[in-house]
Amino acid sequence: MTVTIKTDEQQRARHLAAMRHSAAHVLAAAMLDLMPDAKLAIGPAIDTGFYYDFDLPRTLTPEDLDALNRRMRRIIKQKQVFQHSTMPVDEAKSFFLERNQPYKVELIEDLEREASVAEVSLYQNGDFIDLCEGPHVANTGAVGAFKLLRTAGAYWRGDENRQQLQRVYGTAWETKDDLNAYLKFLEEAERRDHRRLGRELDLFSFSEDIGPGLVVWHAKGGHVRSTMEDYWRESHRAGGYEFIYTPHIGKASLWQTSGHLNWFSDNMYAPVEIDEQQYYLKPMNCPFHIQVYKSRTRSYRELPLRYTEAGTVYRYERSGVLHGLLRARGFTQDDAHLFCRPDQMDSELTRVLQFCLGILDTYGFKDLELELSTWERGETTKYAGEAQDWELAEAGLVKALDELDLSYKRMAGEAAFYGPKVDIKIVDVLGRPWQLSTIQFDFWLPQAFGLEYIGEDGSARRPFMIHRALYGSIERFFGILLEHYGGAFPVWLAPVQVVIIPIADRHNEYAQQVAATLSEAGVLVDVDTRSERMNAKIRDAQLQKVPYMAVVGDREIDDGAVNVRLRTGENCGALQVAEFSARVQDRAQSRSEAL
Ligand SMILES: [Zn+2]
Ligand SMILES: [Zn+2]
Repeated sequence: MTVTIKTDEQQRARHLAAMRHSAAHVLAAAMLDLMPDAKLAIGPAIDTGFYYDFDLPRTLTPEDLDALNRRMRRIIKQKQVFQHSTMPVDEAKSFFLERNQPYKVELIEDLEREASVAEVSLYQNGDFIDLCEGPHVANTGAVGAFKLLRTAGAYWRGDENRQQLQRVYGTAWETKDDLNAYLKFLEEAERRDHRRLGRELDLFSFSEDIGPGLVVWHAKGGHVRSTMEDYWRESHRAGGYEFIYTPHIGKASLWQTSGHLNWFSDNMYAPVEIDEQQYYLKPMNCPFHIQVYKSRTRSYRELPLRYTEAGTVYRYERSGVLHGLLRARGFTQDDAHLFCRPDQMDSELTRVLQFCLGILDTYGFKDLELELSTWERGETTKYAGEAQDWELAEAGLVKALDELDLSYKRMAGEAAFYGPKVDIKIVDVLGRPWQLSTIQFDFWLPQAFGLEYIGEDGSARRPFMIHRALYGSIERFFGILLEHYGGAFPVWLAPVQVVIIPIADRHNEYAQQVAATLSEAGVLVDVDTRSERMNAKIRDAQLQKVPYMAVVGDREIDDGAVNVRLRTGENCGALQVAEFSARVQDRAQSRSEAL
């Protein structure tokens, strides 16, 4: 039964891909109709649709997209058959050269050089012929419900030194309903975009003067972050971790030994020279934590050691891939490194996995996807460490996953060269998976740095080392959290928990008294004394996603009360100040999502 469903799913995925790629051909045909001088690059199917890259005589406008949409619809209505043919390489080159399509000629030349093909594969619908391996749907009528979405810049072959092209993105679905559901999803994702919410809620920004990919946290965002860090500190202290602090730069020789200069240098900032030594900004904390371990001889009795640090690292990312907090050049990892004996590994793994799940649960991430990445058995030369350690580590991870009754996907052969790992992805409120936590074995660094402990029998042994990130990057985690909640943080994270709204000026004094009482109890409270109307103040507080609005007027003063509304619009009526304060404190202390 399961097998049937899976086959259906795979078939559907294949059909969608063929449909979307066919839509790309229809788009290219429409473009040649609109701009006969257009030069065509490539047009693949992607996750939810397709794109085509064009070299055009001018920049596309929104009106152009409308015109292309209309032309595409016309072509789809004509049900043009997709016809496959082949052509000898030389003939194909002159064919595309004559049609002034130099990118296609370059693609054919590459095929010729790299795959030494004698002929190339073509698909034709109507007058339009493209260099293409297929597959396609039968005719343009089967392209389904589509919409062109936007344009973006792209480089030919993704190379910044080559021609700048215009990429047209579209989405295509089997039915109109599917299309509409997806467009609605896009709208909702746009509404929740963390960059937009960061601006609207005054949480963080990027400054031209500082540089791209380097975030500055404003007071409100800083408050949320410090609360996240407080929780991080509290939970790690309770979890038996030790807090360490390490520098931001280290000598080239350190990164040489760790191997980062070998396999990670593209992502590292250029070195600075101090006293004729080269120093690199750290892209990772691991080699530093290793120095703490190595600072003296370790005995088997000291293990396990659990070091943790909120360490800010810097990685060079091309400016084109930077994306707010989700992909930045400077970010803070909640890094931990565990060092343990083989006999401690199983309990450590169960413990660390449980620890991660507990914290993700507190943040409201209940829907998780777990992946176990293992090595390719038998391919020992590709990997660092001993085969028996790989097997032991994998068995340990499986045991921990089973012990906690977790379902997971096994990704055979997906492990990095230095060890197997478990990745934890959360699925957010829009159903999008995000990779957050990682529990990653490392057989390389302990070997590279010669890590040892003295065993019970007095001989030197090598410890197991496990990298563990939970938030991953605090910045990215915050961005995901912001989108997940659409800015409406649970009470414990909210930078302002209560706004007190006096109905008229004469209620200001009482409002300030209530604010003082709440503030003394640890509640984060603002008083809105602007001379706006009450409804405008309520609306503004709602837009700022403040959990509680406490309205005060004559009656509340007489009763020693506040009239409480929630940001959801729900009206809780009059509550005594002490009662209200207790409710807010309870929600904050229990880290509950309820208001
Ligand atoms: Zn094609
Ligand atoms: Zn690490």
